[in-house]
Amino acid sequence: MISAKSLVVALVAVVFCGASFAQGPTDTTFARDSVQIRQVFDEVLMHAQAHENLRHLCKEIGHRLSGSKSAQQAMDWGLDVLRDHGADTTYIMPVEVPSWTRGSVADAHAILPNGQDMALHITALGGSDPTPAGETIEGPLLVVRHLDALDTLDATGHIVLFNRAMDPLLINTGAAYGGAYDQRGNGAVAAAKAGAVGVLVRSLTHALDTLPHTGSMRYAEDVSRIPAAALSTVDASALSKAYAQARERDQTVVVRMRMDCADLGKVMQGNVIGEWRGSTHPNEIITLGGHLDSWDIGEGAHDDGSGVVHTLEALRALRAIGYTPHRTLRFVLFINEENGNRGGKKYAEMAASEHEAGLRHVAAMESDAGGFVPRGVRMDGPDLQVAMVRSWAPTLEPYNLHYFGRGGAGVDIGPLKTLEPRPLLVGLVPDGQRYFDLHHSSQDVWENVHKRELELGAATCATMLMLLDQHLPSPSN
Ligand SMILES: [Zn+2]
Repeated sequence: MISAKSLVVALVAVVFCGASFAQGPTDTTFARDSVQIRQVFDEVLMHAQAHENLRHLCKEIGHRLSGSKSAQQAMDWGLDVLRDHGADTTYIMPVEVPSWTRGSVADAHAILPNGQDMALHITALGGSDPTPAGETIEGPLLVVRHLDALDTLDATGHIVLFNRAMDPLLINTGAAYGGAYDQRGNGAVAAAKAGAVGVLVRSLTHALDTLPHTGSMRYAEDVSRIPAAALSTVDASALSKAYAQARERDQTVVVRMRMDCADLGKVMQGNVIGEWRGSTHPNEIITLGGHLDSWDIGEGAHDDGSGVVHTLEALRALRAIGYTPHRTLRFVLFINEENGNRGGKKYAEMAASEHEAGLRHVAAMESDAGGFVPRGVRMDGPDLQVAMVRSWAPTLEPYNLHYFGRGGAGVDIGPLKTLEPRPLLVGLVPDGQRYFDLHHSSQDVWENVHKRELELGAATCATMLMLLDQHLPSPSN
């Protein structure tokens, strides 16, 4: 068996000999970074607590919908683990969040022209109103693919199905999700404006299965609030087919639906924060985070239990290898990403007032794309800093980290964009091909997170945090 130390030496020798850096780091920096990165990966792969932390979060606490008791339990747990993993200061940043319950009934059927009763797999979209008085509503079905199709259609009394699939041609599944999201986010408003009494939305996933995938939706103040539910992809396809056949014969498909979800008002919860004070630049802050809240029909294992335990593990591992941060590292478990992003917005408000007081965010990183094998990072920030991160590619190549793209780095850290000078925002990019199979569904559970893939993600977060700490220029420079 080869020792970790000799592996480090061998690795440095191998990578060193093959490297040439016209514009990259100096040989000395490259060698030092390579050794440190190897230490981080060794520590995580040998001693990680990420998988066990995720088990606790998913199995002992469970889902963590904002405003719920379990979200509060998760906050208390997060504070304990941050302390245990080496934060020298921990606190809760209070955030007012919505409280909503799915209830116990989400039932829908289609009645086909031949009298056949087709049971549909639905679940309420987050924040939806119930059907009036929790009773069954009924209406002829109208199927459309785009919101603006309703501009010229009269949907009075109908139940509308938005049935546009995520674009299979986009390799970035997050982009495919974003391209189909309008149906879920704004479908209820568009359908209600056209006179509909209820709305079904094809689940946002490439998977063809009978699982409804929930997610946030919104109402508009001057538009009537109609109940909105996610429909499984298998049902959405079958229902559309039945609808098309019925229309050819001038017949009607009728949909019945009933839901008893309820708005429970507002509750105070908060972002859970642990800090590790910087040794030479304590007034410069680098944040790493994930969101603690989750949807309520699974366990929020990938979304975003993985980001939570990546964050905790990065702290633990950097402590364990004896790292001394230059900047103050802030580990943040955000609340309410899923249905309002109030945690992320509140955090940015605090960062703005800290800015006034001379505390500067130089970078923020987020893990909120699942616990799958990491491929690299996505960045949003000044060109020079993006170029600097790209120059680290040779040191990250041995870990199969090849992707250094630009784009939205994450919902929770997004509001930090308004700070001036702008901090570099970085998002972990795990392989996303299977993420939406599980996303916001009953299958987003601990058993579906692979231990080693989860640990590689944690090691990548810890590595990026360390490199950002060491290499990013100070804002005043
Ligand atoms: Zn998420």
